[in-house]
Amino acid sequence: MAKTGLAQDERFQQHLTGPGHPERPERLEAIANVLAERKLDEACKPIDVSPVDMKAVHRIHRQSYINRFMRACETGQPFIDVPDSAICPETYWIARLAAGTAINAVDAVMAGEIDNAFCPLRPPGHHAEHDRSMGFCMINNIALAARRLIDHHGLTRILILDWDVHHGNGTQHTFEATPQVLFISLHGHPTFVYPGTGYETERGVGEGAGHTLNIPMLPHSNDDDYRRAFDDKVHPEIERYAPQFVLVDAGFDAHRMDPLAPIDLETSSYGWMTDRMVDVAKRHCGGRLVSFLEGGYHLQALADSVALHVERLLDA
Ligand SMILES: [Zn+2]
Repeated sequence: MAKTGLAQDERFQQHLTGPGHPERPERLEAIANVLAERKLDEACKPIDVSPVDMKAVHRIHRQSYINRFMRACETGQPFIDVPDSAICPETYWIARLAAGTAINAVDAVMAGEIDNAFCPLRPPGHHAEHDRSMGFCMINNIALAARRLIDHHGLTRILILDWDVHHGNGTQHTFEATPQVLFISLHGHPTFVYPGTGYETERGVGEGAGHTLNIPMLPHSNDDDYRRAFDDKVHPEIERYAPQFVLVDAGFDAHRMDPLAPIDLETSSYGWMTDRMVDVAKRHCGGRLVSFLEGGYHLQALADSVALHVERLLDA
């Protein structure tokens, strides 16, 4: 059994997105319920939930954007930058809590307090760009975590594996010019799935050339297609890179029940994908792995997939 951290806090449900918005507080309620029912929450060690130091945010995001985000919340705006990115007056502080918690999770792993962790945070982060919000995301949590590992812990080879059905554009753009992060994303093909980036030809720029790997999946790709992508593309790239830390951007919206994209993964797919990443972490970096919730909008599919993900982290 691994020592697994869990970053659960009811305050992440206080980010209100309004009626009919798929990225809703009930997602975390469904996750909390299933983890409690299966006694997985008590098997995990709680991760400290605390607001991020703004210096860490400004390493990833432009200060003028963050100020704009703060003011939009303070003045009661319904969204920031795009109508998808719905906010409420509390969103700014909750986003700071989520980002701080992402950093606390990697710190706890580096301190040896836990082996791995799952962070069901809201708002999500991987679409957030340097200077603007996109796709429900305001602060890029996983980018802050990777930056922490580089700046504070001195690591030089971080793997970010993003299996959310949407391309992690913000994360890719943050690190595309550095070899210190290998960004691998499996997502619905950009010609038919938001945000329209993540083509195979995007392989990184400058010193980061070759350290971005996009694997666009065609409509109705299923478990077999994902297994082939892991075998043929994901694993060879990771073996060459030999990461010192594994970060997983775990959206659960490639599930066949999910309403946002036409990819047909099963709940069980999230079990073996977790096992694969746990195995990579064991072979290369002493089991060090932290995963972050991104999407996942069918409550039952999300809850079941998350439960399996956490079970497999505990089994590591
Ligand atoms: Zn998504």
